[in-house]
Amino acid sequence: KNLFSHLTQAPSDAIFAIMNAYKADTSENKIDLGVGAYRTDEEKPYVFDVVKKIEQEIVNDPSLNKEYLEIEGLPEFNKGCQILLFGKDNPLITSGRIVTAQCLGGTGALRVGFDFVKRHLQGDVYVSNPTWGNHNQILDRVGLNQINYPYYDPITKGFNCKATLDCLSQAKEGSIILLHVCAHNPTGVDPTEDEWLQIADVCKTRNLIPFFDCAYQGFASGCLDKDVFAVRKFAELGFQMIIAYSFSKNMGLYNERVGAIHILTSSQDIATKVLSNLKMVIRTLYSCPPAIGGRIVSRILCNDNYYQQWVQELNVITGRIIKMRSLLKNELDNLNVQGNWDHIIKQTGFFTFTGLTPQQCDQLTQDHHVYLLRSGRMSMAGITSKNVKQLVEAIKIVVQ
Ligand code: PMP
Repeated sequence: KNLFSHLTQAPSDAIFAIMNAYKADTSENKIDLGVGAYRTDEEKPYVFDVVKKIEQEIVNDPSLNKEYLEIEGLPEFNKGCQILLFGKDNPLITSGRIVTAQCLGGTGALRVGFDFVKRHLQGDVYVSNPTWGNHNQILDRVGLNQINYPYYDPITKGFNCKATLDCLSQAKEGSIILLHVCAHNPTGVDPTEDEWLQIADVCKTRNLIPFFDCAYQGFASGCLDKDVFAVRKFAELGFQMIIAYSFSKNMGLYNERVGAIHILTSSQDIATKVLSNLKMVIRTLYSCPPAIGGRIVSRILCNDNYYQQWVQELNVITGRIIKMRSLLKNELDNLNVQGNWDHIIKQTGFFTFTGLTPQQCDQLTQDHHVYLLRSGRMSMAGITSKNVKQLVEAIKIVVQ
């Protein structure tokens, strides 16, 4: 008898599948708009210089060893993350009300956060329609019930604030609402500051618990502080909430798996109890986090010099992505490609939700070596000054 014969094939992950199909394509003109990882204008992966420098420092530092870290990770990492997210002069930093733990990337932080929610809060989780596919899968695995809120308007290709507010105003008290802090994945559509205030209002009225996902700080406006407006505003308004944070993109540490979970509580006393329970979640999942990524991040965040270097390099990256938006839009206009493409420059962050149909996306891949999600999501980081023309010519053909 075969022990595992009752298993059926699980679906392959859409994003990893595209990544592999791109790798297998032998064409010289292939274009990778699938994965959300930064590429230079030469289509190369990028390692921050400041990261390389610190890696050398760490290798040669005789005071470091391979002993286990604390369950919640490096203390200086956690402190640095709080300052980066909430702001240096935020009184919350010294209040003792924020519980923070180093996690395995943003995904690890989401998993730890939702495991904690499942055990200690329950409630339905409202997720934007659409959201990053892994949100739905994680919630499913953790066993939390999901409800969609409208979010994206396919007609305007923008944020449907009214429908979102209407939906949330019907939510059961104590529900959790998953919000993308900035650079929404997959749509590239973010609420304005005024719309965030309206969302905060309905969360207050309905007693909803915000759970923020912050995977792209720096990539929406290009300004680190501006991009986390929502988190700082909700904190100022007195919300107790959870934030899952990722350094994969803004420090280019994808495979080091560095992220953080923050839980903003109402008092220092409660924070102590929350931390003890959060540690139980982590201890039983993976015990404690790996050290290298956490050391790199904490050295950047705790050293003024390195911090400045990081911000400068990040500005180059976010600047290139922002530039590719207007380049793509201009090329589409220049070649008179059918349709209105204004949304490309209105949307922000790593991704554009093009509005291309699944069939058009398939055609782009099969006939033109352009790899992207069938939802029409394009990673702007895969566009370069050299491939944009070829891309637009291909789009022109498939939309005709
Ligand atoms: N949240 C969102 C919205 C994301 O797009 C990503 C990365 N694609 C993550 C979380 C998690 O990133 P990671 O686990 O690679 O840090």
